[in-house]
Amino acid sequence: MKIEIIKCLEDNFSYLLIDEVTKSAIVVDPSESKPIIDKIESLNLKLKFIMNTHHHYDHVGGNKELKKLYNAKVIGFDEDKHRIPEIDICLKNNEIWKDGIFEAKVFHIPGHTLGHICFYFFRENVLFSGDTLFSLGCGRVFEGTHEQMFNSLQLLKNLPSKTEIYCGHEYTLKNSDFCLKYDSENSALISKIQLIKNQLAKGQPTIPTTLEEELKTNIFLRSKNVEKFSKLRDLKDNF
Ligand code: ZN
Ligand code: FE
Repeated sequence: MKIEIIKCLEDNFSYLLIDEVTKSAIVVDPSESKPIIDKIESLNLKLKFIMNTHHHYDHVGGNKELKKLYNAKVIGFDEDKHRIPEIDICLKNNEIWKDGIFEAKVFHIPGHTLGHICFYFFRENVLFSGDTLFSLGCGRVFEGTHEQMFNSLQLLKNLPSKTEIYCGHEYTLKNSDFCLKYDSENSALISKIQLIKNQLAKGQPTIPTTLEEELKTNIFLRSKNVEKFSKLRDLKDNF
């Protein structure tokens, strides 16, 4: 499975997952259709599925047009089917979904929204974390409670440390300012920030990150309990 990173809107990431033998593809969180269509056409792919981590417009904005153009099936969370546009395949928590070489486990990780899920491609050890876990950050708690978000992050912490994380936004540099302010002695953080700056200077995305790196540097993932996590999340909201 090959992964193409596609920048969308201001700072969103959509991802194309490609079976290089059959040329069939999945798009994760198409913010908008145009850049996705351009990439599909340039690589001569057949778009079969659209996967959504949650219902926000910057993650589902391309659903309708892509579905119509390619006859692709939209995959989302069963409990959120009323607000995932054009949904066809409703998945439940802990369900394993499979098609050809693509095989992913779904985890319900509420907090940012109540129906937020992530897709864990366990054979490749790749996670699409949407707006729950970012590099050096986590999503804002819009619908759930801080406790739900904390628990969702605990679940992700238990994945294998080599897991590659593909998140919904390029927020890494902005997030690093906050991490540094409250964790200024962290040498792993300081070296990661240098790496991020180099990547961005070359016009490259800072994604994917790995769980191992985030466990060393991401202040939200490192919070020991829900009280500490909540305090940091509130500080970040006003940062
Ligand atoms: Zn969102
Ligand atoms: Fe988003």
